[in-house]
Amino acid sequence: MTRVLIVGGVAAGMKAAATARRRRPELDILVLQDEPEVSYSACGLPYWLGDPAAIPRDKLIARSVERFRADGIDLRVRHRVDEVNLDARRAHLTALDTGSRSAEPFDLILFATGAQAFMPPITVTTDAPPVLPLRSLHDADRLQPLLSPPGRAVIVGGGYIGLEMAETLRHRGFRVTLVEAMPRLLPAFDPAVAGIVGEHLAKHGVEVVLGASVAQVGKEGVRLSDGIVLPADHVLMAVGVRPRTDLAAAAGVKLGETGAIAVDAAMRTGIAGAYAAGDCAEARHVVSGKPVWYPLGDIANRQGRVAGTNLAGGQARFPGVLGTAIFKVFDLAVARTGLSAEQARRSGFDPVPVHAQMPSRARYMPNSRMLDGWLLVDRRDGRLLGAEAVGPDGVDKYIDIAATAIWAKLTADDLAELDLAYAPPYSPVFAPVQVVGELAR
Ligand code: FAD
Ligand code: NAD
Repeated sequence: MTRVLIVGGVAAGMKAAATARRRRPELDILVLQDEPEVSYSACGLPYWLGDPAAIPRDKLIARSVERFRADGIDLRVRHRVDEVNLDARRAHLTALDTGSRSAEPFDLILFATGAQAFMPPITVTTDAPPVLPLRSLHDADRLQPLLSPPGRAVIVGGGYIGLEMAETLRHRGFRVTLVEAMPRLLPAFDPAVAGIVGEHLAKHGVEVVLGASVAQVGKEGVRLSDGIVLPADHVLMAVGVRPRTDLAAAAGVKLGETGAIAVDAAMRTGIAGAYAAGDCAEARHVVSGKPVWYPLGDIANRQGRVAGTNLAGGQARFPGVLGTAIFKVFDLAVARTGLSAEQARRSGFDPVPVHAQMPSRARYMPNSRMLDGWLLVDRRDGRLLGAEAVGPDGVDKYIDIAATAIWAKLTADDLAELDLAYAPPYSPVFAPVQVVGELAR
């Protein structure tokens, strides 16, 4: 019987295991996961940390170890794969609780090893406050008890996690300072988005220090390279993640130009029988056709589903990504999809950004709010290339319509003419994204 080995058991790994099990009940599936839990929502961690009474920890776990086992998946947690020999089709592993080492044979393997938090080389003295990342449930378990009573927190990194956690920590009563190395927040977004988010942070009492690098964390707090010291009881490092590729690379699997594992549309690595999916793997951008690396949960699940189908003998293909993403910071939603202007230029397009500020619903409705929306359109043929939006209402709808339109290769003309739902409590006569589409025609 074919034996499938899956390394990593969060989003991509467990989605693949469940899909493969469903499609071929007789498959022998072994999942090895170094953490004690599987299939948890890392995306929910900032919300559990913010309000553990409202969001119980166990609700973050989509499916328990026991349930996977009941489905006939041999799932071993606290087991780390140390080495994979793709010629001999054997994986060498360590049981982390006992230290005992063993080997497991396999016919097919999926690398679903994810990503890890990047920890910059900063000096941390022994008497420094805790300096923690937020990547895993274990990281969140370490953070949770530190959040009461509240004190002073410094967040290093003004990206997705830094901004979500700024809200969480303010909600828990902390004084929060956010340190970003770049001259502005959210370098991947339009500068105007960063400005709106910056003002919003100030309104909610978050102090933002831009263009700053951390030299050291010591007893007195975080010392920046210009000598300024930010007092801190806790320091959260949120400066990005890196794909976990060591295991696959050591086994001879090729990495792509982004640094993540290169895969084809079937999630194959190029070595027979070896697949990769999720945050450890690249994806192809639907607009540019180029390999990209977006470490996002929905992509990990979609890639895991394709890998699981193919591990079970199917012919699924992963069509690619737009990098569609959204996050919440206090009362604002911030979202993007498709190419940025810079990515578009590098891919040979002639991008024109079009912007409007519009009401999210009929202007006279009490629940209507102003939102800012952008579309990036190719000057030559009006093709939609990318979109961004920020505001307190309607941003998710804006970005999902834009993503669908970009995916379908629509032009600004097409978008402006779409037949979308209208009633005053839900939308203006023309949906905000159509208003920008109209401007871009
Ligand atoms: P991972 O979740 O990294 O899981 C890989 C697993 O494999 C890990 O448990 C790892 O320890 C294990 N592993 C690695 N190597 C080995 C080995 N050698 N042996 C055994 N086990 C191994 N994405 C969104 O789309 N929307 C969001 O709102 C969002 N919010 C987020 C919030 C936070 C705080 C974080 C941290 C991430 C968020 N993400 C979000 C990203 C999303 O969580 C990831 O894209 C997703 O978890 C990736 O799943 P994965 O299975 O590929 O990798
Ligand atoms: P990020 O890439 O979103 O942001 C990292 C930020 O840290 C950037 O603004 C970067 O300029 C800054 N930075 C880098 N080095 C620094 C330094 N030495 N000092 C100060 N600032 C520095 O990464 P993240 O916030 O760690 O999140 C990791 C990934 O998790 C994201 O890329 C995203 O894919 C995923 N995520 C998604 C969501 C969502 O979709 N809602 C939420 C959280 C996380």
